Amino acid sequence: MAEALFHRGPGRIFRRLGPRAQVALCQLPLTVLVAVMAAITPSAWPSLMHSPLYAAGLALHGVLFLACFLVPWERLAHRLYLLIPVLDFAAIGFLRNGAAPLLPGLAVLVVFPVIWLSASGMLARSSLVLSFLGPFFIMVPSAAGDFPALTASDLTTVVLFPVMMLAVSLAIRFASVSLRLQQRELAEKDRELRELLAASREREKLLETVLDATDVGIAAVDRSGHFLVSNSRQRNFRRATGADEDVPGQGHQLIFGQDRRTLLPVDRRPISRAMAGESFADYLVWAGEGPEQRAVSTAARPLVSEEGRLTGAVVVYTDVTGWVESLAANQELISNVSHEFKNPLNSIIGNVDLVLDEAGGLPPNLAQRLLVVQRNAERLLDLVADLTASASTALNVHPKRTDLASLVETSLSSAQASAQRSHVEFAADVPSPLWAYADPLRIGQVLDNLVSNAIKYSPGGGRVSISAEADMQWVRLSVTDTGMGMSHEDVANVFNRFFRTESAQKAAIPGVGLGLSITRMIVERHGGSIRCESGEGQGSTFTVTLPAEGPPPSF
Ligand code: ADP
Repeated sequence: MAEALFHRGPGRIFRRLGPRAQVALCQLPLTVLVAVMAAITPSAWPSLMHSPLYAAGLALHGVLFLACFLVPWERLAHRLYLLIPVLDFAAIGFLRNGAAPLLPGLAVLVVFPVIWLSASGMLARSSLVLSFLGPFFIMVPSAAGDFPALTASDLTTVVLFPVMMLAVSLAIRFASVSLRLQQRELAEKDRELRELLAASREREKLLETVLDATDVGIAAVDRSGHFLVSNSRQRNFRRATGADEDVPGQGHQLIFGQDRRTLLPVDRRPISRAMAGESFADYLVWAGEGPEQRAVSTAARPLVSEEGRLTGAVVVYTDVTGWVESLAANQELISNVSHEFKNPLNSIIGNVDLVLDEAGGLPPNLAQRLLVVQRNAERLLDLVADLTASASTALNVHPKRTDLASLVETSLSSAQASAQRSHVEFAADVPSPLWAYADPLRIGQVLDNLVSNAIKYSPGGGRVSISAEADMQWVRLSVTDTGMGMSHEDVANVFNRFFRTESAQKAAIPGVGLGLSITRMIVERHGGSIRCESGEGQGSTFTVTLPAEGPPPSF
C-alpha cells in the first residue's frame, strides 16, 4: 500500500526529475547534515576550526554537492554517478578523522553512501565490498594512531562497524531486490490485464458485429431487467414500441396482443415473461401502431448460472409481418371459399334428407346410394367447418378469468353419447373451480377436440381420463386415452395441418387432420403450449398448459 503510494506520489515526481537533480536529491540529506555541522562548528567545537583534515572533509562535501549539479550525468556512462557516494566515503573519512577524538560518532554518516550504493541496485557485488571497505578505511587511521597500544575493543570497533554497515547494505539489497521483484510481478500482471482487456474488447466488437449482422433482434437481460447485450434490430423493435425506458418490461410500451389493439399487460410482455424464468417460442406480439405496426414472433430462454440460479434471459425477436399478412390473406381466401361451399352442401344434405324421408317411395338400392351421398356431404360439411375454424381462430382469442373445471364438465357431458357408442368410459380428476386466463369458447373447442379424438382413436373402447394440476403461473390439463396411440415420428408431426397417422387411415377412422393444428393455434394464442406423449398401441396423453392468472384488474 505504502509502496503503491510511493509509486504514485514521490516516486513519480522523482522519475520526472532530470539526472542531475536526481543525483543531487540523493546527496541532499548528507549535505544538509554536513552543512549544519559546518555552521555550528565555530561555536560548538571551536578547536576543529584548526583541523585541516576536518576542513578538507567539509570542502570535499561542498565540491561533491556542486558536482551533482554541474557534471552532465546524462551524457556520461549510466553508473558513473555512483562515484559521488564512493567519494562520500573519502569526505566522511576526512571529517571523522579530522574531528576524532572529539566527535568519533561522525563515522555513522557512512550510512548515507552505504544506503545509496545498495539501493541503486547496480554494481551489486562492488557495492557490498564498498559498504565494508569504506567504513573500514574510515576507522583504520584512528586505530593506527594508537598502534602499539591497540586494545581488543579498538580492534573490535574497527571490524565491527564495517561489518554492521555491510549488514545494512545486505538488508537494503534484499529489500530492494524483493521490491523490484514485486514491481516486476505487478508490471507483468498489469500487462496481462491490459492484454485481457484488449482481447475482451475485441471479442465484444466481434459479438456486436455478428449480432448486428443477423436479421433477428436479440437481447440478453439480467434479473433486474437491465440489458446486457442487444443488437440494432432489437433496438429498432424497442423504438417501434415507443419504449421510453432503458429497463425492459417497464414504462409505457406499445406492445399489443393478437387483436393488434389491446395493449399487453406488463407481465405478458415477452421480456417480462422471460425475466420471470419462462421459456417460450413463437409468442406473437404486435409492436407499435398504425401503418408502422409490426408482427413480431418472440422466443426466450432463461440464462442459468453454474450453480443453477436464474441470472437473466435471452429473448429473440423475428419480424414476421410479411408472413402473418400472407397467412391472413390465405385464411381469408379459405374462409370465403368455405363459406361459399356451406350453402350448396347444406342444400344437398337437406334435399337428400327430404327424399329419404319420403314415405316408402324409394327402392332400397337407391335409398342406399342416397345415404352414401348424405354421409359424404356431411363429411364435406365437417371439413368446411374445420377449414372455417382454422381460418377464423388465427387472431381471435379473448382470454378472461375462466373456470376450466366447468368447461371440462360441459365437454365430457356433450361427448357422453359418442363415448357410450364406442364403449369408452370417462374419468375426471379436476379440482373445482380451476381458474385460468382463457377464452371459454376457444378452450371449450380445444377440450371437445381432444376428447372426441381420444374417443375416436380408441376403436376397441377403453378409458378416457382428464386430470389437472396448477401452480401460481400455469394450469395443466391432460387428456389421456387407452386407445391405439401412435409412433414417436407421428407424435412429432401430430400438430401439423392435414397430418393423419397411417394407422388412423388404415383403420378408416374419418378425419382430415385439421383439429389438432387448430387446437395448438388456440392454445398458443393464449400464451400457452400443448404437448403430446404417445406410443403405438399404448394410448396417448395430450397436455395443455395455460396461464393461471390474468393481468390484475384495472381500476
Ligand atoms: P383428425 O382427427 O380430423 O384426423 P386431428 O388434427 O385431430 O385430425 O388429428 C390428427 C391425427 O393425429 C389424427 O388423424 C390421428 O392420426 C392422430 N391422433 C389425434 N389424436 C389421437 C389420439 N388420441 N390417439 C391416436 N392418434 C391420434
